[in-house]
Amino acid sequence: MDILILAVVIALVAVGVISGLVVSSRKKKQLPPSAPSSTPTITAPPAEPQVGEDAVETAEEPRRTIEEVVLPEAEAAAPEAPAVVAEPEAPAAPEIEVPEPTAGRLVRLRARLARSQNSLGKGLLTLLSREHLDEDTWEEIEETLLIADVGVVPTQELVDRLRERVKVLGTRTPADLRALLKEELLTLVGTDFDRAVKTESGLDTPGVVMVVGVNGTGKTTTTGKLARVLVADGRSVVLGAADTFRAAAADQLQTWGDRVGARTVRGPEGGDPASIAYDAVKEGIAEGADVVLIDTAGRLHTKTGLMDELGKVKRVVEKHGPLDEVLLVLDATTGQNGLTQARVFAEVVDITGIVLTKLDGTAKGGIVVAVQRELGVPVKLVGLGEGPDDLAPFEPEAFVDALIGD
Ligand code: GDP
Repeated sequence: MDILILAVVIALVAVGVISGLVVSSRKKKQLPPSAPSSTPTITAPPAEPQVGEDAVETAEEPRRTIEEVVLPEAEAAAPEAPAVVAEPEAPAAPEIEVPEPTAGRLVRLRARLARSQNSLGKGLLTLLSREHLDEDTWEEIEETLLIADVGVVPTQELVDRLRERVKVLGTRTPADLRALLKEELLTLVGTDFDRAVKTESGLDTPGVVMVVGVNGTGKTTTTGKLARVLVADGRSVVLGAADTFRAAAADQLQTWGDRVGARTVRGPEGGDPASIAYDAVKEGIAEGADVVLIDTAGRLHTKTGLMDELGKVKRVVEKHGPLDEVLLVLDATTGQNGLTQARVFAEVVDITGIVLTKLDGTAKGGIVVAVQRELGVPVKLVGLGEGPDDLAPFEPEAFVDALIGD
């Protein structure tokens, strides 16, 4: 009997221990997954927070929006908060990449461009080769140009010119038509714009380039790729991560910089873009860099908001000296939307050059013509892929060749 009682007691104790273990292991699962006990509970950014550092929340605390957490302090501290100069990450043996030379890049990428633009050039040539160029055919030619985003006025001009010249031509051999179309498209794209990206100040301070555009157009990527273009050409570059609006934009830019040994100046997420831009130029001057590239945020919330923000960045940067180039980044796939964006930005800042991204993913290369007409500013660079060296100086002839094909 005693033995029986003892056995029951042991059994009860064993059940108690096992259930205790289960409860405590459940409790453990409720803890934040990887918060070590030494990690402070942070609800506001530390003195010099880096974009990408997550605030650790306690389980009990209600979740707060990033604006609630970051903005009040950041706003108060923004004007004085020094931007963080991020050293290019230097592991034991830093692997600095050597970007591809820029000469002839558009030719190298031509196949990609030609692939996406096939329908425009080939379509036009096929239509022009028809035996009878009747009204319907001319309408189709017009439609082809409009679909490719060439724009109404330039389309009309081109069709008028083609009609006139085809009449004079008499016989229309494929070679004649190709030459004629190439000449007319080249006129439309424009051969006498100065398409060089101005990166020299002409003083003994760095050239300063500001990159603007709506978020998502490829602005940060373009800034990174442009840094590579400059490094490939033997220039030294400082990057200013003044897009403090988009989470991780600064990290993204710094990664681009690290890869080619360019320093990135950055600040707190939601911080004051103008003070970062100012510090970036200051850093560029201090280290004797050739060029400072400033990435900005492109929130089209309201025109006044955008104007205030970019206007302030520009004013503050110009305390060091004039801006040498303001590049507007436009996503070629967005068509009319892109043109609307271009108009808004042009009202806010003096755009001096256009970068058309994602031309590899659209047959609407006609946007080159339309946007130049709209702003009276040349396309200077084109993005032709997501690879690090897929940014090319825009060359009208190589572009038109790609449109028509060989
Ligand atoms: P941001 O918000 O304007 O700074 O945009 P990002 O620089 O982050 O780019 C948005 C996306 O567009 C990324 O996935 C880029 O890789 C992509 N992108 C940028 N330029 C090009 C391009 O020329 N071609 C293609 N296919 N994708 C691009």
